[in-house]
Amino acid sequence: MREMIRLEPVFQEMVWGGNRMKDYFGYNIPGDDTGEAWVVSAHPQGDCRIAEGSFAGKSLSWLWENHRELFGDAQGREFPLLVKFIDAKEDLSIQVHPDDAYAKEHENGARGKTECWYILDCAHDADIIVGHRAKNREEMRQLMEENRWEEFLKVRPIHPGDFFQIPPGTVHAIRKGTLLIEIQQNSAITYRMYDYGRMPGGKPRQLHQKQALDVVQCPYEEDMGERSVTHEAGYDKTFLVACPFYTVEKYDIRGTAKINQNHPFLIVSVIDGEGSIDGCAVKKGCCLILPDGYGTADLQGDFSIITAHI
Ligand code: ZN
Repeated sequence: MREMIRLEPVFQEMVWGGNRMKDYFGYNIPGDDTGEAWVVSAHPQGDCRIAEGSFAGKSLSWLWENHRELFGDAQGREFPLLVKFIDAKEDLSIQVHPDDAYAKEHENGARGKTECWYILDCAHDADIIVGHRAKNREEMRQLMEENRWEEFLKVRPIHPGDFFQIPPGTVHAIRKGTLLIEIQQNSAITYRMYDYGRMPGGKPRQLHQKQALDVVQCPYEEDMGERSVTHEAGYDKTFLVACPFYTVEKYDIRGTAKINQNHPFLIVSVIDGEGSIDGCAVKKGCCLILPDGYGTADLQGDFSIITAHI
């Protein structure tokens, strides 16, 4: 059996970030505006270190480069996924991401971005923005130019356990009081449409309204998908989404469970409770990769994980 790859988070301070991840996950965060913990990332802006074992101290990008066999010899220059915990103390900007084709043409061959969110915790009156109400591109342009954001945006109430898939071209924003886990394509290309007129450090952050007008799906078509739960010995499994870039599921472990890792690699993020995986203690906030050929993992305890694989 190959060894599991435990990773150290990389923290990112953001104008909208907070300090909840300190108590919630027991993380040693750098300050009171820590917006993101990149927990499974080989991105140059936050390349996770391997915490222990044969590759301790190496980065995930190094492992991807030098030991592709651990990832089922998956293709691609870069590790394909990025997993983050996000603590939004304030609203995030209204944004949209391009698809692979647009990013390739307009962003020097970069990747587009599909992402998804599972809500871990939120204020009782929290909401989120997914989609918009413009009937056509002309109406969208007008609503944006006239700053009629309340008319334009689709605001939805949220609760812990809600899940959203955000395909490219979907207008979206995480809003204040929300703690969530995001699984996404490994890309940072974001077109910011509106930033509430904020002036962090005395000047506004750059907007990209022209690109946004190019890539926003119009009219918006809702595609929320169906989730399904299966009950197995020792765990419940909830299917959340499958798209060309990733498949995401949630497992609620109760007692003793055996899970077969038969994918090129399996990303495991512990979102609640504590227990062990093959004798290694895990708790809320632990993130690891079970490599190719890992076989059957023995999970014990009372905890929940979100898994992702390509
Ligand atoms: Zn986004």
